[in-house]
Amino acid sequence: MIKKYEFGDNTQLSPHFNAKEFRCKCDKEHDFEVNEKLVENLEKLYKNLNCSKIIVTSGYRCATHDKNVGGNGTGQHTKGNAADICCYGQDGQPISSKTVCYTAQDIGFTGIANIDTSYQHTHVDVRTGSNWHGDETKGNNSVTSDFYQYLGIQKEDKNLMKGIDISVHNGTIDWNKVKADGIDFAILRAGYGRELSQKDARFEENYKNAKAAGIPVGAYWYSYAMSEDEASLEADVFLSVIKGKQFESPVYFDVEEKKPFDLGKEKVSAIMRAFLEKVESAGYFTGLYGSASSLTTHTSDDIKNRYTIWLAHWVNQTNYSGAYSLWQYSEKGFVLGINGNVDPDICTTDFPAIIKEKGLNGFGQSPTAEHDNKVNVTVQVGGDVFKGTLKKS
Ligand SMILES: [Zn+2]
Ligand SMILES: [Zn+2]
Repeated sequence: MIKKYEFGDNTQLSPHFNAKEFRCKCDKEHDFEVNEKLVENLEKLYKNLNCSKIIVTSGYRCATHDKNVGGNGTGQHTKGNAADICCYGQDGQPISSKTVCYTAQDIGFTGIANIDTSYQHTHVDVRTGSNWHGDETKGNNSVTSDFYQYLGIQKEDKNLMKGIDISVHNGTIDWNKVKADGIDFAILRAGYGRELSQKDARFEENYKNAKAAGIPVGAYWYSYAMSEDEASLEADVFLSVIKGKQFESPVYFDVEEKKPFDLGKEKVSAIMRAFLEKVESAGYFTGLYGSASSLTTHTSDDIKNRYTIWLAHWVNQTNYSGAYSLWQYSEKGFVLGINGNVDPDICTTDFPAIIKEKGLNGFGQSPTAEHDNKVNVTVQVGGDVFKGTLKKS
């Protein structure tokens, strides 16, 4: 039911909304209207998003004011059915409009649109007739599907942690915008191969700035190893690159080059084992990145059972039957603060809690201490090869 109010009315309409928040923002000081259903739904939104506050930037509009702000003078704002809002989380920061849009859809708002390029303001209304979904940054009728489909997220996955994986190829990143867009974690490429010079050129910068923005991070190392010895050297370089840092998410070994897989399941699994064992024994929560097919056909069960799996499978619904805790489901995500496409990931495990609890990844006493005091050596004398561990004296 739509109710009428005089300009000066400051009736408390619900626990978090007062009538005067909805009055027209023109200078005429006239009566205004508010649909009770609008306020009821805004309260639900407040609760479902666990807001600290919701600011109504525009509620009721007279025809003149509606036209002044770009409307046609007859829209939902002129009927008391609509509000443009900015929702704030418990951390005092605006909640991404993407999150607001799909949550508003779940609640039953019938008109919903993102209305600014920073994805902080959302239009919601309780129109009757057909529903309207929009993203005004992409054109008025850009969202023809529901918001889950439009944003590329599985409905049942909305409570999962949303992440991205990043390398030098993503360029300069505005991590504060990434955070504002609702990204919960980032896996950073630390580098590749077995030379220190192959450290990712933006690893330090990404690590520092993601941390400063309050985004938990993990790391990965891209492999070119063709033998266990080469994998062991890659592990050494990786450990020296991540030394002294703290990672709330696991650190991953990324094997995706064709060549090592051409060696066959047994040999490539031995390569994976060599890297993973070394990094894990240095005090890291360690995982393996792999495609659905490489994990299925070229990775031994003992590895899949021992290490957490980061599945790469660019599909809407994966048919990969093994266990995994992190899923890179596309290479075509878009996130505020990053130019071009970015790989989106979803995570089902609360790694920060586990890693901090166990004191891994730099959160306990120096996890690399053991690594620093011991070195694995291989010596060749004539035709014989000697392998062993040397302790620092
Ligand atoms: Zn007005
Ligand atoms: Zn609006």
